[in-house]
Amino acid sequence: MIVAKAWRGKRYAVLGLARSGAATVRALVAGGAGVVAWDSDEAKRAVFAPSPLRGEGWGEGQTSSAAPVAAPLPTLSPEGRGLVDVAPLDDLTGFDALVVSPGVPLNTHPLAAVAREAGVPVIGDIELFAQARGDLPSHKVVGITGTNGKSTTTALVHHILKTAGIPTLMGGNIGLPILEQEALPEGGVYVLELSSYQIDLTQTLDCDVAVLLNITPDHLDRYDGFEGYAASKARLFAMQSAGHDAIIGIGDAPSAAIARGLSGRAEHLTKIAPGVCLFQGDWPALQGPHNAQNALAAIAVAKALGVSEVDIDRGLASFTGLPHRMQQIASYGGVAYVDDSKATNPESTAPALAAFERVHWIVGGRAKGDDLDACRPAFGHVVRAYTIGEAGPKFAEILGGSMPVEAVGTLDAAVRSAAANAKPGDTVLLSPACASFDQFRDYEARGAAFRAAVELLA
Ligand code: ADP
Repeated sequence: MIVAKAWRGKRYAVLGLARSGAATVRALVAGGAGVVAWDSDEAKRAVFAPSPLRGEGWGEGQTSSAAPVAAPLPTLSPEGRGLVDVAPLDDLTGFDALVVSPGVPLNTHPLAAVAREAGVPVIGDIELFAQARGDLPSHKVVGITGTNGKSTTTALVHHILKTAGIPTLMGGNIGLPILEQEALPEGGVYVLELSSYQIDLTQTLDCDVAVLLNITPDHLDRYDGFEGYAASKARLFAMQSAGHDAIIGIGDAPSAAIARGLSGRAEHLTKIAPGVCLFQGDWPALQGPHNAQNALAAIAVAKALGVSEVDIDRGLASFTGLPHRMQQIASYGGVAYVDDSKATNPESTAPALAAFERVHWIVGGRAKGDDLDACRPAFGHVVRAYTIGEAGPKFAEILGGSMPVEAVGTLDAAVRSAAANAKPGDTVLLSPACASFDQFRDYEARGAAFRAAVELLA
């Protein structure tokens, strides 16, 4: 577990008790802080609810004996350990910070205004990690953001470092909650995938290497327009101190503008231009132009950290990729079945369409925008489209003029129909360009359902 000495005796309100929120409570308490925690979901609250042990200790399953459950301000136990209470958070007076999960929509959540009025900073677990850095063995931090490619690039950097024998772990938007992990030994590298929401909740993370891959419209429900979203990404660099490295993909205007703003960094700024001609033949899990961008970013990170060319090459070649990102899951009768369920917007679907010659494209779900314009340049690769989910009828209309379309509605029906139509050499591709929540729990459940439907074809 990662804890900061600075938390001792402080008071934190924690909103959201899913995985990272629960880990945050445990870390704060272990660090000697008083915590009041809340989640609107009773099952999540129950993890920290009073137990028969109430009064005998603190921490998970227990609460302070000194305070009733609804008491707003727990303090240290007589032995100087942290205490946790579960209570609704409506008054934040006296708290040192409100810690929220990135899933809490701060632009609309009433507690954000309460925190502002009370002058209480609103932070996330990445900021708590930043506060703990001074107490960790000497180390480096790599922060990776962007609309698309964050997880792939984070996992790739982590893999290259591991291959090179450098102690490393992944955290942030990927893997285990950062505060729950064991601190790395001297010389370790923490590789953090950072969504815009996580950056918004972070004030003092000085990344040794900060990466921005791209910025395209996404998550606009959480921001006051595109500028707000882009500004959030720019803050990752604003938090860096002089002499630290910035790596920026300049394939879109907002990212290029951020890079221009950092031109004073001279040799500590690496720009990744789009369309660089690159031999990717030795990197089985890094195909397509989008992965060229991800690989170039990872190479730049590894170089900034002093990894040798030989180790970088070995890492790129042995990387196996992440599930649900252009992952070939089966091949029957010469037809490849590819799961790209993680493509939740048109910009992330476009490279998948471009990567295969003859595509049977399963597309739809909960749309994030009104069009599929970002995919248009690759429409020539689509033999037939199969629309599913909420956006199905609209997408069928949009695509109808450019390709044969079947408005099948469900993923199962799409797989059956695509399998019946596909010829040897074709690819059946689930790359929905939409969120999954209309028909599935999340993109992983959607990918699993695709695999199950494909396995029925065997
Ligand atoms: P993130 O973590 O940012 O969502 P992932 O690495 O999980 O990104 O990839 C999500 C989807 O985005 C994948 O399905 C892939 O097709 C697409 N993608 C990956 N890298 C890029 C990139 N650099 N530019 C555009 N799209 C990308």
